[in-house]
Amino acid sequence: MKHPSSNILVAGAGGFIGGHLVAYFRKQGIKNIRAVDIKPFGEWYQKFEDVENLSLNLGELPACNQAVKGMEWVYNLAADMGGMGFIELHKAECMLTVLINTHLLMASRDAKVKRFFYASSACVYAADKQTTTENPGLKEADAYPAMPEDGYGWEKLFSERMCRHFREDFKLETRMVRYHNVYGPNGTYDGGREKAPAAICRKVIEAQKNKSGEIEIWGDGEQTRSFMYIDDCIKGSTQIMESDIREPINLGSAEMVSINQLVDIAEGIAGVKLKRKYNLGAPKGVRGRSSDNTLIQKLMGWEPGTKLKDGLSKTYEWIEGEMN
Ligand code: NAD
Repeated sequence: MKHPSSNILVAGAGGFIGGHLVAYFRKQGIKNIRAVDIKPFGEWYQKFEDVENLSLNLGELPACNQAVKGMEWVYNLAADMGGMGFIELHKAECMLTVLINTHLLMASRDAKVKRFFYASSACVYAADKQTTTENPGLKEADAYPAMPEDGYGWEKLFSERMCRHFREDFKLETRMVRYHNVYGPNGTYDGGREKAPAAICRKVIEAQKNKSGEIEIWGDGEQTRSFMYIDDCIKGSTQIMESDIREPINLGSAEMVSINQLVDIAEGIAGVKLKRKYNLGAPKGVRGRSSDNTLIQKLMGWEPGTKLKDGLSKTYEWIEGEMN
């Protein structure tokens, strides 16, 4: 089913991915875009005057009713989240995000919304499938038997189930996408919620500014991950929303690197070489994680392909601009 030409809600529009989604819909000429976030407008990464912007707490049902009124498709990108440093230390706050998705689903059902998008995460995958650095890529089936990331991952897995049952019981068409680490410009790079790519770029820039010549790395740097550039995330999210894919599906890059290799790339962009200080006590998450893209290749004939080096260059440039 093609995207409607009007009436799309983006929840979490003041955040990183939500902001890019609104920008994308504007470019597509979609009318009546409604952008909602709990943050005051001044803190949104991207805000456009030609869309309807609302500052609402979507943890509350009346706010969700207001947000979905008259909307045909709903994208839920709203969550109280951050990188490992945040989710390991704020488990209850992460789990309270269940109120946002639950109330948005209830409001969407009552307002006869046609399609509902849920941003899930690779954090739903079982811990025992991620114990070595040579992760072959997580397949969709690896989420069960369930042993997801404590707090954040359980909320995501539970909300996936809720989306599924709203489709089965109430005929609300839901799409669930498991993002693997998304990065790019116009996102969090400091303050404690930032994720590895933005944090590493910021630290490399700081090391040059204060001439320290060194960088702190969380863990031993050998832990592995894959990182998806924001343009691939937007393309995949909107295409999966248009598709008939009703089961949760991976949306991530299969280019797996260690954190040390990520630092190598950032240093290469900056043209510096820094002394590495490993903080073994810092939050570091699972040992190895990447995306198995067999299913998305089969169903969509495509997978996120932006090279980490290319995406990180653009991200680095943006963060450097902000810090200057
Ligand atoms: P983000 O933190 O930049 O954006 C989330 C937005 O939700 C924020 O602007 C926040 O203010 C808003 N929000 C929080 N509570 C709210 C509430 N009660 N009412 C209204 N708005 C509220 O995060 P992001 O990176 O853009 O992530 C978007 C979604 O994708 C989230 O569900 C996240 O869990 C998921 N996800 C992201 C990544 C990633 O690497 N960025 C990976 C996996 C999953």
